[in-house]
Amino acid sequence: MEFIDTHSHLYDEAFAGEEDAAVARAREAGVNQIIFPDIDSQSREAMFAFADRHPGVIFPCLGLHPTSVNASWKEELTLVESHLDKKIWAIGEIGLDCYWSKEFLKEQQEVMRIQLEFAAKKNLPVIIHSRESTELIINILKECKHLNPKGVFHAFSGSIETYREIQKLGDWYIGIGGVLTYKKASIAETVKDIPLERIILETDSPYLTPVPFRGKRNESGYIPYIADRLAEILSKDISEIADITTENARKLFMI
Ligand SMILES: [Zn+2]
Repeated sequence: MEFIDTHSHLYDEAFAGEEDAAVARAREAGVNQIIFPDIDSQSREAMFAFADRHPGVIFPCLGLHPTSVNASWKEELTLVESHLDKKIWAIGEIGLDCYWSKEFLKEQQEVMRIQLEFAAKKNLPVIIHSRESTELIINILKECKHLNPKGVFHAFSGSIETYREIQKLGDWYIGIGGVLTYKKASIAETVKDIPLERIILETDSPYLTPVPFRGKRNESGYIPYIADRLAEILSKDISEIADITTENARKLFMI
């Protein structure tokens, strides 16, 4: 079985000195390819350097994360733009986060719009981070429909109605991670109504660790625990989950 972790921050300082070991453990678990969403200029160079050490295994992306939108957002966005000619596999993470802070919410919206334009210009998918922001994100997608956006709603926790609404506003995949393994997670119900052809797997390492490691640091090698839970919920074989979600990820990120 082969998996792709479509959302991992193994370059995070939580892995300091153990980054390459975490990649080795992922590959032992059958997670042969890993997508690195970008955060901001603080970690970008480390992310690209890490990806360069693992060609064909790690696929870096480029984007300013909504929680990194602050007073210096213009400078940060200029830095994103200056890297657009690098080989990248998506624009992201982009989106809105009303959970951590609404102080720069207007700026977050502007930064999301501009980065949707970057993606359209480069014909790349986007990785959407949406936290307590569904309505506002849908509004931006309505404004940007002419850009024909495609991508993934990472750590999706919305309803089936939200899923159907966003599909009218672009070509979207749903990122499913460790939350699926938690008791009472609403996504465990919603996921039954989402076509498997629209689902990709992600860890969001070092966060959102699946059961049985919940509370510890998450890593890409834990993808099979998420796949196993999805197989159980959908009454399918884990090998079918592996095949289809891997194929979906290849298609979306063109790898
Ligand atoms: Zn992330």
